[in-house]
Amino acid sequence: MTAAGSRPNMFPSSRTQGEPSDGVEVTFLNAGTCRVPEVAVRPGGGLRRVDLPALVALIRHPTEGPVLFDTGYSPRFFEATGRLPYRAYRWLTPVTCGPHDTVAAQLPALGVLPAEVRQVVISHFDPDHIGGLRDFGAARIVCHAEAWESVRGRRGADALRARILPGHLPDDIDERLHLVTDFGMDSVAPLSGAHDLFGDGTVLLVGLPGHAPGQMGALIQRPSGGSWLLAADAIWTRAILDRAGPTAHLLIAVDRPAQLATYTLLRQLHRERPDISIVPTHCPEAADELLPQSHCSWRSDR
Ligand SMILES: [Zn+2]
Repeated sequence: MTAAGSRPNMFPSSRTQGEPSDGVEVTFLNAGTCRVPEVAVRPGGGLRRVDLPALVALIRHPTEGPVLFDTGYSPRFFEATGRLPYRAYRWLTPVTCGPHDTVAAQLPALGVLPAEVRQVVISHFDPDHIGGLRDFGAARIVCHAEAWESVRGRRGADALRARILPGHLPDDIDERLHLVTDFGMDSVAPLSGAHDLFGDGTVLLVGLPGHAPGQMGALIQRPSGGSWLLAADAIWTRAILDRAGPTAHLLIAVDRPAQLATYTLLRQLHRERPDISIVPTHCPEAADELLPQSHCSWRSDR
């Protein structure tokens, strides 16, 4: 296990999604879906059920190789939730994810074998973000130290309270962890700081606290001149950027004051930086916009 500090801010250009370049290429994938009442994710929403994606970003760096941001669901979810008390997860969040929907199953069509993935950045340790983690046995696992501290060594009811399901963490995770300990590098205002993942400014990890301990997002420059902010579960849908109101998202936040501050931060970013496209993991609109249909398990029902 190693701890990461901060490096100088360079943030040079990345290039077009899916286009070879000296910067990073980003391809978005979906790994499983979860069905929830609309009101849970959109202020003022109704009771009709909507499917939410579980977006994953494949980041291809010219020298650092393939890197994943999160890993979505996998069929391990069903193995882990087959009995009480974990079965409650199935009732609360009905999931769909077959063997062909996993990130590992989709990568070969993109020219990447699971064993070739060099790093996996975990935004936080909820099951819909680490479902595929065990499929990438050669990868360094990058997460925030606070996130790891919140889940390490937990068993039984203690693990359930930390939203950890059995069988999701690799057995050798201790040896493969690379812990981010600070966001000491200058970032893009109004974001307060960042950790430079590759040391060349192409991918900046940023703190998005509230939903889960140590949650991180990733800021990646786009070829068109703007950037993506992979926002993980800092918000569940873009709808909340334009319309404040109660949703289940705030109720399950581990730190509600921090979550409210993160809402404020992202709304400010949305207002002041239209060049930064916010990509929440579970946003149907983002999935419709970003997923290439040729290797996509996502289907919007809107
Ligand atoms: Zn999630």
